[in-house]
Amino acid sequence: MTDERLPQSPEAFRAYVRAWMAEHYAQFQRDWPGRIDPVSLPYRRAWEDTLCRHGWSGLGWPREYGGKALSLSHQAIYLEELARSGAPLGVNLIGHGIFAPTLLHFGSAAQKARYLPGILRNEAIWCQGYSEPGAGSDLAAVTSRARKTQDGYVLDGHKIWTSFANLADYCFALVRTDPHAQRHRGLSFLLVDMHQPGVRVEPIRQLTGEAEFCEVFFEQVKVPSDCLLGQEGDGWSMAMAAASFERGTYFIPRLVQFERELARVRALIDSVAHGLTPIALQSYRQRWAALFADSMVLQLKSRRALLAAMNGEPPGPEGSSTKVHWSEAHQRMLDLALELLGLNLCVPAMQMQAEVAFFAHASLWSRAETILAGTSEIQRNIVGEKILGLAKG
Ligand SMILES: Cc1cc2nc3c(=O)[nH]c(=O)nc-3n(C[C@H](O)[C@H](O)[C@H](O)COP(=O)(O)OP(=O)(O)OC[C@H]3O[C@@H](n4cnc5c(N)ncnc54)[C@H](O)[C@@H]3O)c2cc1C
Repeated sequence: MTDERLPQSPEAFRAYVRAWMAEHYAQFQRDWPGRIDPVSLPYRRAWEDTLCRHGWSGLGWPREYGGKALSLSHQAIYLEELARSGAPLGVNLIGHGIFAPTLLHFGSAAQKARYLPGILRNEAIWCQGYSEPGAGSDLAAVTSRARKTQDGYVLDGHKIWTSFANLADYCFALVRTDPHAQRHRGLSFLLVDMHQPGVRVEPIRQLTGEAEFCEVFFEQVKVPSDCLLGQEGDGWSMAMAAASFERGTYFIPRLVQFERELARVRALIDSVAHGLTPIALQSYRQRWAALFADSMVLQLKSRRALLAAMNGEPPGPEGSSTKVHWSEAHQRMLDLALELLGLNLCVPAMQMQAEVAFFAHASLWSRAETILAGTSEIQRNIVGEKILGLAKG
């Protein structure tokens, strides 16, 4: 893929991306030496490397940093078509989706020159070190402490639930540089090299059996002063800004996946229909229809967020409503799928095995979806206070 060949009109761009993905993802699968396992980290990383090697990275970045300067609507089309191809999400989601735009916004020229090329080529994997055992929903309670020295900081602390830390080359960590300042004010953003002495990563096994997130221990880690992003004490506002950079596009791949899974659940209902009583069949169909309505409404919400971002509007609390809706509807859909598979009615054994493996994994993973990036309770607080105007709880 080269810039010159990228069509400009949205329709032609969509057709181009769709054809490219169909051809190259099929080729990638044919060339993959092992078992095709779209949830495995090596598989996901290799596919992400392939995308970056072919220039599908830095799509929204300015050209001076090797980006493609594509509009937000073109980026949205790319994400839709990537998800529609059935290809998995990568492992450097945080590097591409959160850290790079934060760096472009707040980084010095030297920091951009140093870190952006590695992300563009997918050679540097980034993780996000915010949460700690005592600071999750209440993020401002972060206690990891960076003490100032002559040429930088010495960092001590304990992060937890750090996605992809076991693969990461760098971590952008929210740490306390001033223990005497008001909670939000004493925080700063440090860019920590994960391969240096004093950094210890302990993977945490999840319900699915995989270990995608980790505990990270910082013990007397030396962080040079040029690894401070922005100004000391500005960590909180940068963390808030970082959270808004994916606004408008975050749900796109997840909603395409929702739609694809819903079609598979529909096929499951059809495959067991003749073994069910009419009442049972109707009840399954009604649950499916309600999920179809969820899918439509979520797509409208996602489009509205995209339009708002394209118009340059500041992020609003509506994203919280979409997060709760998507994560909880997804769990309802996966519960329905498992119930249908549990009926064990006349589905051919091979197909059954593949569907059980897929939906069991998706269902176990979906438990995390109502927790990560802000729990359902926290999102409901935001909706209650900021949209419904209810009193602070
Ligand atoms: C798969 C996954 C990946 C993650 N990846 C990362 C990552 O890469 N980097 C990172 O920094 N973090 C990551 N996290 C951590 C995530 O951000 C936190 O789990 C989340 O913010 C909740 O914090 P906590 O786990 O400390 O729960 P707590 O904040 O301790 O909450 C415990 C319970 O109390 C409820 N609760 C807390 N406060 C309130 C309140 N005010 N009102 C009502 N209920 C409340 C919560 O809803 C929850 O049910 C990840 C989490 C998951 C599950």
